[in-house]
Amino acid sequence: MSHGLPTQSLKKQMFEELKRRGDGPLNYKQNTQKSVRARDARAAEWPDFEDRRDRITNRRQSAVENLPALHEQLVARWEENGVTAHYAADAGEAAGLVVGLIQKTGVDRIVKSKSMLTEEIGLNNALEQAGIHPVETDLGEYIVQLRGEVPSHITMPAMHLNRRDVGRLFAEKLGVPYTDDPPTLTRYAREALRKEFLSARVGICGVNFAVAETGHIATVTNEGNGRMVTSQPDMVIALMGWERVTQSLGDLAELWQLLSRSGTGQRTTVYLNLMQGPAEGPTGPREVHIVVVDNGRKKVHADREMQEVLRCIRCGACQNACPVYRQVGGHPYGGVYAGPIGKVLEPALHGVDEAPHHPFASSLCGACEEICPVKIPIPKLLLDLRHKRVGTRSKHDPEHTVWRVYREVMSEPGRYEAAARVARGAQRLFPGGAMPIPGWTDHREAPKFAAQSFREWYAGREQKDER
Ligand code: SF4
Repeated sequence: MSHGLPTQSLKKQMFEELKRRGDGPLNYKQNTQKSVRARDARAAEWPDFEDRRDRITNRRQSAVENLPALHEQLVARWEENGVTAHYAADAGEAAGLVVGLIQKTGVDRIVKSKSMLTEEIGLNNALEQAGIHPVETDLGEYIVQLRGEVPSHITMPAMHLNRRDVGRLFAEKLGVPYTDDPPTLTRYAREALRKEFLSARVGICGVNFAVAETGHIATVTNEGNGRMVTSQPDMVIALMGWERVTQSLGDLAELWQLLSRSGTGQRTTVYLNLMQGPAEGPTGPREVHIVVVDNGRKKVHADREMQEVLRCIRCGACQNACPVYRQVGGHPYGGVYAGPIGKVLEPALHGVDEAPHHPFASSLCGACEEICPVKIPIPKLLLDLRHKRVGTRSKHDPEHTVWRVYREVMSEPGRYEAAARVARGAQRLFPGGAMPIPGWTDHREAPKFAAQSFREWYAGREQKDER
């Protein structure tokens, strides 16, 4: 299954996005900066913020190291609680499992709450192909689904849009009068979605964490949609990445606080849903299924260098802090996960040859590591991935020849001076003296060589002094 990685140069897509945007609204810049300011304010409220960060980083790392054992514990709890667990090796298998479960119910329309994992496995496409229409019920996801787009941010999927964009979209797709008033727009969405909630027989949700000691499935949301999706329908299907296990409810409480404070700068999110199994009373789901997805995670787990990325709690703080993401937003990255975490996750999960440009689309400034609540060393992982990428290049890759020639020229002053003379002469042959360099001058101007070298200028100066 395709995971939507870019087929053209990542940098090229980023520059295209900047060009397309021109002087338009810089939603990314404003929204990410606002989130970072809110995060800093929340962090300042806790004098022991750094101690908490260290503690939760260690707990998260210990959970990651013990994932196989924690899953054994989880499966036993799920069995006791009446939850049916399914393990899927890859995206295709996971999507197929979900489609199969829904087909057994005979419905052709389901409701969904927010889940990046469902984006990763291409679930909506698989459902549509099987004649099942998924309705996204998170407001941001609902908006991007109506636009036929994918989310541009992990926690704020419609960050690239403003209220006027949403007003125009709702007028066109929902047939309501145009307005850019956020409460009215939210009411329109609520009215459209309420009908879906009340008639849905199957609900699909993501999983922020599963608690090994108790089997709880925890979802963190800011809208009531997560609860509607998991309490109204007869069947609930939860999709969970293999690494999203935490040891205890105590660890979950700490993670929840750090997740909200780091990602959106809230003290807590509005909702924390804990689901333990099918309903025992007259209302609630009769069947609860959980689909645990590997899709490259076990391979990352086995790689000691890369394993640390599995600590990620998908808070989105690194996207907010990243100077590259702030300029270009989420879509130009091409994969499902954008920004610093995406630059590591996409090549780690799918192989560096599948996402060859991701590790290089970074200035390695370190802002991501500084803000990450679970201290993932993103710049170090990016360097590791760069080394891996260089190591997988064929001997005949033209870049090897370029660097070999560069080394020969730069290691011998005579060769360097001769090459500089040739380059200075050659640039006069091009309009405006700008020499085209494939892949470079498509998006920016090449620097011009000086009319004379420093040595020539210095020698000329000495001659003048002598005269
Ligand atoms: S890498 Fe860290 S900051 Fe980025 S999404 Fe994951 S947990 Fe959040």
